[in-house]
Amino acid sequence: MLTMPRLAVLAAMLIASVPALAATYDAHYRVEADPAVGNLRVELKLSGEQLPGKLVFSIDPQRHRNFTSTDSVEIQGASVTWRPRGKYSRLHYDFVVNHERAPGRFDSLMTQDWALFRADKLVPRVRVTAARGLESRATMEFQLPAQWTAVSAYPTTSDELMQIDDPERRFDRPLGWMLIGKLGKRSESIGGVQTIVAAPAGDNARRQDMLSFLNWNLPHLLGVFPEFPRRLLVVSAGDPLWRGGLSAPASLFLHASRPLISENRTSTLLHELVHVAMGIHGDGESDWIVEGLAEYYSIETLHRSGGISEQRYTEAMERLAKWGSSSINLMSEKSSGATTARAVIVMREVDAEIRSLTRGKASLDDVARELARRRGEVSLELLQATAQKIAGNPLKSLDRATLSGQTAKPAPTP
Ligand SMILES: [Zn+2]
Repeated sequence: MLTMPRLAVLAAMLIASVPALAATYDAHYRVEADPAVGNLRVELKLSGEQLPGKLVFSIDPQRHRNFTSTDSVEIQGASVTWRPRGKYSRLHYDFVVNHERAPGRFDSLMTQDWALFRADKLVPRVRVTAARGLESRATMEFQLPAQWTAVSAYPTTSDELMQIDDPERRFDRPLGWMLIGKLGKRSESIGGVQTIVAAPAGDNARRQDMLSFLNWNLPHLLGVFPEFPRRLLVVSAGDPLWRGGLSAPASLFLHASRPLISENRTSTLLHELVHVAMGIHGDGESDWIVEGLAEYYSIETLHRSGGISEQRYTEAMERLAKWGSSSINLMSEKSSGATTARAVIVMREVDAEIRSLTRGKASLDDVARELARRRGEVSLELLQATAQKIAGNPLKSLDRATLSGQTAKPAPTP
């Protein structure tokens, strides 16, 4: 008769003999913060039966410095080549947190009490050469001064390990906003989205305002974008940070002085949330589509949630139509204020045209949802094709000549 311990040993032997379906190795990011230095010290440790043969990082030499490794590491300008050997390998470097987006306006900052930065800047882009089917399983942890904590859009295990999973890549690299330090944070599940609002300690009322605002509005946005990330981080801080909103994967930054709804009935917070929801960027001439949809759904969401009245909504649209009339050609790499204003009006026309062609069965929501599902680059041609598929006909409101201000004058009648 087998005793219990022997049974357990047998079971363990059986489990061990089952071949793993996909080979994995562990990638562990350990980030140490020293506010006196102003840098973050990063260690990337790989461990497993088999490791990738080569990792080539595309660094910013101004921000990623002092690379060392237990194995070979080669630095050539903006390229760092790391060749792990055996079953363990470590790479170390320093990350300079402070970064100015415009003179005196930071989009990444470390103070004595906190640091705000993008994880995808902390860990630079990397090209990995590995055996077929070999994938990483990544975690991240912070080594912080007393009373400091860390927040990100990633779920955390009981022992404070962030689980970094990028399903689109074989090598997991952390993405999006992170905030570490003496923090105040509030978290709530809104329509199934675990929403975390965090800022440096102090200013508690504002965090509650933001959560209430999201409670009102996020469900309406989720109605259009059901594939919205299941976890959302909103971080906020004041000067000398960039005085606006900046979106990133599953997270966004909003300057502490930005109102939730501005005088002209738009909302930077909702605008950035649409960017998070859609995850799209323009080809060389289609930024107006990205910005137009973000601004359209910012106002539209407020309208649907009752955050602004019918009359205020109409006024906002009239103001945008007036402002946008100075934008003759929408096609440009970076959408100006007037271009975005006109783009909102175009989106409104597209919505009306689809509703009319489908007798109210479809709308711009279906187009936006489809673009958000695809993510990545958008172009006028993709928008036209998506809208046509939904409406059943090509849309007049998406005619290139009209959008680019090249409508030919009508030919003189003979
Ligand atoms: Zn935008």
